Amino acid sequence: MHLMTTGPVLTIHRAADEIGGNCIELQHDGHRLLLDAGSPLESDGATEPQGAVPRTLDTSRNIAGLVLSHPHQDHWGLLRALPASWPVWSGAATETLIRMTASLSGGAVAQRFQAYRSQESFCVGPFTITPFLADHSAFDAHMLLVDVGGKRVLYSGDFRRVGRKAVLVDRLMKNPPTGVDVLLHEGTTLGRAKAFPTESALEDDFVALFQRTRGRVFITWSAQNIDRTVTLYRACKKTRRTLVLDLYTIDVLERLSALRDTLPTLGWPQVCAVVTSSLKWSYESPDRMNTPAFVERVATSGHATGAAKLAGRRVAVVMLRPSLLRDFRKKGVEPAADDATITQIHASGHASRDDLEAFARAIGPRRLVPIHSFTWDEHLEGFANVERLRDGEVLEIP
Ligand SMILES: [Zn+2]
Ligand SMILES: [Zn+2]
Repeated sequence: MHLMTTGPVLTIHRAADEIGGNCIELQHDGHRLLLDAGSPLESDGATEPQGAVPRTLDTSRNIAGLVLSHPHQDHWGLLRALPASWPVWSGAATETLIRMTASLSGGAVAQRFQAYRSQESFCVGPFTITPFLADHSAFDAHMLLVDVGGKRVLYSGDFRRVGRKAVLVDRLMKNPPTGVDVLLHEGTTLGRAKAFPTESALEDDFVALFQRTRGRVFITWSAQNIDRTVTLYRACKKTRRTLVLDLYTIDVLERLSALRDTLPTLGWPQVCAVVTSSLKWSYESPDRMNTPAFVERVATSGHATGAAKLAGRRVAVVMLRPSLLRDFRKKGVEPAADDATITQIHASGHASRDDLEAFARAIGPRRLVPIHSFTWDEHLEGFANVERLRDGEVLEIP
């Protein structure tokens, strides 16, 4: 019997009409490749992982591979609900950050990972994948180019052009992959037309804030937003303040420094660790971070302090999160009158509409398939060759 062979088939299982929960499948010749497996942002924490598996994703059959773009949960959080035998590919730092996030909440990711490197192609079944390191608020974020059956799909992942790696996106736009049949294009901040402030503009804002504040400055940011940590460290250097980081952030910086970039961490001038009771508990618990030696090493490094001692440090810039605040309060450390001005200093992790349109023009795909936004339908006019898919809809790549 002669089987009619068709070209590769694309399905967005989820994220056609929402931000996050990305789960995209390419099928060719009976082989399946998944791009990201995220938990939906809207149900984070509330939904059992099993309930978050998209209806159209067949978990009963094997896959050739699952390739992750970056370590945000809306791109990998579904792993816990997927077969442990499914092989996963990601950047090395992405695996590190994913496993740290999972351990911190007392979970584990069962799948085995293989590491890919930016601009080095690798094969999974009939699929050839080329990752491109990009700029995003997550460390180690990649765009993924997939070649299969004579067709070419570029998945933008999440990206921006205002962070410390903006030049990587600019370079890709100047010298884009040719003949892209389908561009899977993220659109998180389509509603914002003009460019966001850059991380270096933010650095100036923080310097000004640190100069005009008499006492300590408390700042909330994500431990895994490395660009922001670097921005804050640089602002501290310029204003002779000490950056006080919690155990988890120190751990993140140490592990990532060991893998690739040199990042500010314990032992660098003006970096101090604060040892707080709940994180100390997490690190010492066998079913959490399970590295008591790390706590011991930090505590005896000569660059650590307890929460109570922070009360006397007027020139500190102190990391703050709800869980840390609880521990700080117990030790009498709280934002006070002279350090209690509330200011928002932030740059987006995503590209503005102008930048999204410029990116799409630079790639010039035969089909642009929108993903990762709630508002694509309101903003389609600035984009050419749009092929609107809904979750679960199948596109045979023409
Ligand atoms: Zn995302
Ligand atoms: Zn992201």
